Order: sequence, then structure tokens, then C-alpha cells
Amino acid sequence: MAKINENYLKLQAGYLFPEIGRRVAAFSQANPDANIIKMGIGDVTEPLPEACRVAMTKAIKDMGSRESFHGYGPEQGYAWLRDKIVEFDYTPRNCNVAADEIFISDGSKCDTGNILDILGNDNQIAVTDPVYPVYVDTNVMQGNTGAANDQGEYTGLHYLRATEANNFTPEIPDYPLDVVYLCYPNNPTGTVASAEYLKQWVDYALVHNTILMFDAAYRDFITDPAIPQSIYEIEGARKCAIEFRSFSKNAGFTGTRCAFTIVPKDLVATASNGEEIKLHALWSRRQTTKFNGVSYIVQRGAEAVYSEAGQQQTQELISFYLDNAKHIREALASQGYEVFGGVHAPYVWLKTPNNLTSWDFFDLLLNKTNIVGTPGSGFGLSGEGFFRLSAFNTRENVVAAMDRIASKLTI
Ligand SMILES: *Cc1c(COP(=O)(O)O)cnc(C)c1O
Repeated sequence: MAKINENYLKLQAGYLFPEIGRRVAAFSQANPDANIIKMGIGDVTEPLPEACRVAMTKAIKDMGSRESFHGYGPEQGYAWLRDKIVEFDYTPRNCNVAADEIFISDGSKCDTGNILDILGNDNQIAVTDPVYPVYVDTNVMQGNTGAANDQGEYTGLHYLRATEANNFTPEIPDYPLDVVYLCYPNNPTGTVASAEYLKQWVDYALVHNTILMFDAAYRDFITDPAIPQSIYEIEGARKCAIEFRSFSKNAGFTGTRCAFTIVPKDLVATASNGEEIKLHALWSRRQTTKFNGVSYIVQRGAEAVYSEAGQQQTQELISFYLDNAKHIREALASQGYEVFGGVHAPYVWLKTPNNLTSWDFFDLLLNKTNIVGTPGSGFGLSGEGFFRLSAFNTRENVVAAMDRIASKLTI
């Protein structure tokens, strides 16, 4: 009989979102007339920008005649899209990124998991706590951890605590690590990292030959030009960082699927014989072997993000979500809540009132206001006592939700 990858058995049962679903279902059954507002999900709500839809419609037409039909495209993505990314996202921020260092893909979720294919199994790996769970689970699947302890943390994985005391930017460790996952603007806390902070990480990584896995899925939500939008704004990052980007959150591509990963040619890691190998070459080999590219139609849609209309429409989308976040922040603060994030990110991270646990606050909010959020403890131990509200919603729902909190929840 075939053997399974036993690492999968170490995975904690997907607990957070199923448990939310279970509690919401039980509540709806008991209260069939309740008008539940969901502010828990990290998915966008607004339609795809018109510029992207027009471009994809035209691309479908292209597929209808032999002259303009497209079969397999380049595995790395079409040059016209990679060139636009460099021109619009990197050159203006003085980042030295070449078009052939960009690998177009169907999602950052896949890329952050797949990247482990090209790394060995005996690396010292760190994630932040709280964390986007994909980084953890993909390392478990790969066999990079031991079993989970009774608090749900995996042995062999390092957890860097992101707390209110350190502004949700964990202390730089005083021990060597081989791989560190960073996500800024952060999911779930909605907080950002300054250039000074990221420089400390790059300096650390250059000393210890660490690879920084930098997830910049929310970079377009940054409105302060002083806050880095890319790790490559930091000198030396080409030698130590891989950057993950996605069209999911800035252009509403969560259901359309387009993202990209940057692997600089300066980035190396060692083979067991001590030889330094370029990760760009390995990732290129991995992608050309296991991936046949993103559809022509979708890449045309992504390219349209960089058209004049596309830039304006995506900016409107982002401003819309940021205004939602501002409304959430201000409404909660005026009610006496302590709130974090939500300024350069679509997530507000609030401290639960009266020292309630994250799940107790979840139940209170659901019962008293019929609002669903995400318990912070679901993202890691340091998330206990916090709660995530997502600004990905209609304005109407956001306003109604905050009105309910003001009128029905006294803290
Ligand atoms: C939404 C999100 C992504 C984007 O994932 P896709 O697979 O590109 O949709 C990446 N990282 C984080 C932290 C996210 O929240």
C-alpha cells in the first residue's frame, strides 16, 4: 500500500474558520431573523475594476482567432506584464528589480508554500506570532517541524512575538535563523513596519545569511510615502530577501488569481558541500517543471491594473476599503476600545475589552450585535486578547456594524 506524507498528520485540525462557521451556524439556527454582518473574512467584496474586465474581454476575443490565439505562455509570465510591474511598482520606489527576477503566478498563497520546494529540510525557520497560518502549515507539511505542543505551537519552529509592547514588530533575534517570514502591512494585525525596522532585519539577514520571506500582499494600502512598500527599498535586500506580491487585495483578484514572486539573482543559499547556489535558478527550474503559467486572459487583466484607468480604479478601491477601516477605527476608539492597525491596511486589530478572551469577545459580539469577527488567538498565542475586524465590506455594513456596537455593546 502507498505511504502517505505523515507530516500532514501533525497539522492541527483547521480550527479557526471552521469553529467560527460552527458558532455562526448555531447562532443563526437559534436566531433565524438575526441580520448577521460578517467582518471576519479576508476576502474583498467590491467588483473587479472595469479596466481589468475590459482587458480580459479583449483577451478572450484574441483567443478567438488563429492570429492572436495564445497557447502555453512563458512559465515566468509574459514580459509585457513583468515590465509593467518593474516600471510602476519598483522603479518609482528606487528598487533595483529586473523583469526577469519576477515570476508571475496564480497566487501568493501557493508561492509562499511552494517556495519551500527549493530549500532544504534542516533550516532554522521563524514566523511571527500572530501569523498568517499558511507559513506555518506549509512548513509542517514539508517536514520542517516536529509535532504541535498542547498550546498548538510546533516544535522546531521559532515564534517571534508581535505584541503591543513592540508595536507588533518583533525584536530582532540574538540567535541565527536561516529563514524568517515577515508580512507588512501585516495580516492579521493591520500594522506596518518602518524602514528603520526593516533595515534591522536586512542587516541581521546579511550577517547570518538568512533568507527573509517578505509578504507584501497589502503594500498598496500604504499611504505614507515614508513606509517601505517593498523590502527592496532597503539596501542589501537583494542579497537576502524574496518578495511575494499579489493582485488579490489591491485589484480584487481573489477569485481571478494573479500574483508574483521576486527572486533576485543576488540571492544564494548553500548546498551541503558548501557550494553557493543561486535561488533564482532553482525557482526558475521549479516553476518551469511544476507550473505552466497563468492564463493569458488573466495576465491581460493584471496588466490593465497599470493602465491609466486601472491605476485610478484600483486606487479608488483601496481608498474605499481604507475609509471603511478608518470608520471602524474611529467608531471603536470613540467607544473606548484600544485599536491598532487599519491605517495602512484593511484590518483593524482591537484589544478585547475587560480582558475577555478572544473567543469570549467573539461570542459577546455575535450575541449582542450579530457581528462576526475573527478571534486573534486563532492566529497564534500572542493574538489572545485581540480581535480582527476586516474592512473588506460594503460601507453600509460597516456603518451598520459600528452603530450596533455603539448602541448594543457597553464596555
Ligand atoms: C490575502 C493574502 C495573500 C494573497 O494570497 P493570494 O493567494 O494571492 O490570493 C497573501 N498573503 C497574505 C498575508 C494575505 O492575507
